[in-house]
Amino acid sequence: MSLPSIDAKWRISGMALPTYDGVIITLIADDGSIGEGYGFPFPPLGETPGGCFNALDLMGKALIGKDALAIQANMDVVRKVIPHNLSAKAGVDCALHDMLARFLKVPMYQLLGGKTRSRIPLMRILTLKSPKEMREKAVELARQGYRYVKIKTAGNVEEDIERVKEVREGVGQDVSISVDPNQAYLTKEAIAFSRGAEKYNVKMMEQPVHFSYGTAIDDVTRESSIPIEADESATTVEGVMDLAVNRRVDGVNLKIPRSGGILTTMAMANICAIAGLSCRLGANVGTRLLTAHAVHVGAALPNLDYACELAEFERLGNDPYEGLSIVDGEIVVPDEVGSGVRRRQ
Ligand SMILES: [Mg+2]
Repeated sequence: MSLPSIDAKWRISGMALPTYDGVIITLIADDGSIGEGYGFPFPPLGETPGGCFNALDLMGKALIGKDALAIQANMDVVRKVIPHNLSAKAGVDCALHDMLARFLKVPMYQLLGGKTRSRIPLMRILTLKSPKEMREKAVELARQGYRYVKIKTAGNVEEDIERVKEVREGVGQDVSISVDPNQAYLTKEAIAFSRGAEKYNVKMMEQPVHFSYGTAIDDVTRESSIPIEADESATTVEGVMDLAVNRRVDGVNLKIPRSGGILTTMAMANICAIAGLSCRLGANVGTRLLTAHAVHVGAALPNLDYACELAEFERLGNDPYEGLSIVDGEIVVPDEVGSGVRRRQ
């Protein structure tokens, strides 16, 4: 399925994103119990909808006849079917959790250790546009009650600092600002940007340099007064362990589709807690079904240190699911059985 961005000019550094494509997964048990998940393959991370669909076909066949309630055992089966393909694995993991929650007639967060919060503060993303246009959008979002905005930057240091300046002047000091270059800088550009932007009270910079640049992100972390958060570098539990143990970043951005599911996302969050790194849930872009699963993870994690990007469904069309409510810039954790979202009639 394809969800169009309402703003057709939506883009990040190096890439236009007019639509978001994914795969809805429905698991059905012998007694008729249903669990739903969503595979969200993100092309910049090397996954495609077709690849996700084909991997799911293999995983689905391997799960036939297995105990539907045995999440860990089933994920072990799925992991052995095919390496990589984390968005497909994440979709299956979410569908298994969804099924168990519905079977037990509890909200999904109960499976994850219970609820530590009833609402999660939301960060809204400012798509890459001119500094003035980004300021206007930030002001509009602040008027709607959002208190956290993330500025996408392009890799042009001077213009990117101008983006931050415009947004800060537009929203004042009551809105928290972070930035996301999506790997657009070389090391010294990232450090120069940080030094130019720090006076505008920037709380965090995501992934300044490409994940393939080895220890470049360590150099930026060391030199930047703005805390650095790994995003594209944080794709596996082993990778997060390395980032944490070697103090390579200040925080980690967690995404269920990229990490391979709820189990692995919780493992990454636990590593961050033990190591004293900040963590939070980044953009889970797609249907409310995907977001709802992330909301339950966010509800259960005691160590969410900053606002989460769980409102991106607001800027997409054609969502076949409904549910979830946003109040005063925060998403309300659903207390209904399962995920709290349902198919539109
Ligand atoms: Mg990012």
